[in-house]
Amino acid sequence: MANVSTLRFGAQTDEVTSLLRIVNMVRVGDAVTRPEIGRITGLGRGVVAQRVDRAVEMGFLEDAEYAPSSGGRAPRTLRFRAERGRIVVCALGGLHIHVGVTDLDGAILDEAHQAWDISRGPDETLRTATSMVDDLLARGDGTPVWGLVVGLPGPVDFETGRPVAPPIMPGWNDYDVRTVFEQRYDAPVWVDNDVNLLAAAERSRRRDEAVDLIYCKVGTGIGAGLVSHGRLHRGANGAAGDMGHVRVPGAEQVCRCGKVGCLEAVAGGWALVRDAGAAIADGATGPLAEAVASGETLTLEKITLAAGRGDALAISLVQASARQVGEAVAALVNMFNPGVIVVGGAVASTGELFLAEVRQRVYELSLPLATRDLAIKTSENDSREPLRGGVDLAKEQLFELSLPRWFAEGRPTVAAVHGAHG
Ligand SMILES: [Zn+2]
Repeated sequence: MANVSTLRFGAQTDEVTSLLRIVNMVRVGDAVTRPEIGRITGLGRGVVAQRVDRAVEMGFLEDAEYAPSSGGRAPRTLRFRAERGRIVVCALGGLHIHVGVTDLDGAILDEAHQAWDISRGPDETLRTATSMVDDLLARGDGTPVWGLVVGLPGPVDFETGRPVAPPIMPGWNDYDVRTVFEQRYDAPVWVDNDVNLLAAAERSRRRDEAVDLIYCKVGTGIGAGLVSHGRLHRGANGAAGDMGHVRVPGAEQVCRCGKVGCLEAVAGGWALVRDAGAAIADGATGPLAEAVASGETLTLEKITLAAGRGDALAISLVQASARQVGEAVAALVNMFNPGVIVVGGAVASTGELFLAEVRQRVYELSLPLATRDLAIKTSENDSREPLRGGVDLAKEQLFELSLPRWFAEGRPTVAAVHGAHG
């Protein structure tokens, strides 16, 4: 996300504008010496020197080692002082809490993980999450928090930081998650859907600043994060990409959201557990059926592991899920024309078994122009992805979008970043 030209400048003077640009250029590594800054910005040597001095004085940049000489005197390199602030990511899943602390470049300094059922409600859940964050910060060196990102497993109104009627989160509807964190840590907070964090993590991995990407998560539930031209597309209310609840023609299963025939009720992880149980009760055989007969509880993890070991029932369930997901993704491809589709989540962790079916459906059902340069791949399947994505989102908000508003204060404040939202 190195595109400094996407900074939104308000009524800034030329001086502030070029100062912001220089800080960001050094931060992302587009230019690291004064002569390079001069070449890219077109500013004269004296002006560059004066701006850099100012950025050093404000604590954003500092002189580092000398660059390799290309004949004359070697120029001094500059570095962004990423150690001056901390970014905190708090990724809440349906059944776990994962928190991490990073520097301003996004290097993960410390993290903690614990099993947790989010249906225990917002009060208890956020008390637990904030105490995990407190522990991490207490282990650190007292560097101030510059921003926090909270990921939630349901639809979130990004502007207000409140969940909107999340199907698996009783008590969370319209809960003011942002204020809980802002008041505790005195730093700006962004709350987003967990799949958007995963989409942001994929975005940060790519050199292409204008990538068009869909991250499709097929876990217990199903959702998608959309990145349009390098920006997360959240839609008017934050509901964009909520593909788990599109109607599958002919399907009659009741969904967790209360509607009938949702994609998630047919192809989500909880639907696979339901269908595997029904098939075994109906006389299906194989290792998975034997495990159930010996008293084991059926879980999504057991189904995906069984599929990987060649269990015919598990394989057919995973493939059926992939075909339904593939049809929904094909519709998205025709409308959105992404360059990359990344498939992640527990069901998709079966890898090629899942991916092959999705690919086939997408190529069968999408327009040739939409799939001409399309890459479809599985995610890294790394537990740190939500942290990486959260940090990417925080850096985007802090340095690409809100920097002009708080720059003069030297560090981001809640009031400067979010205005008087209360
Ligand atoms: Zn539904």
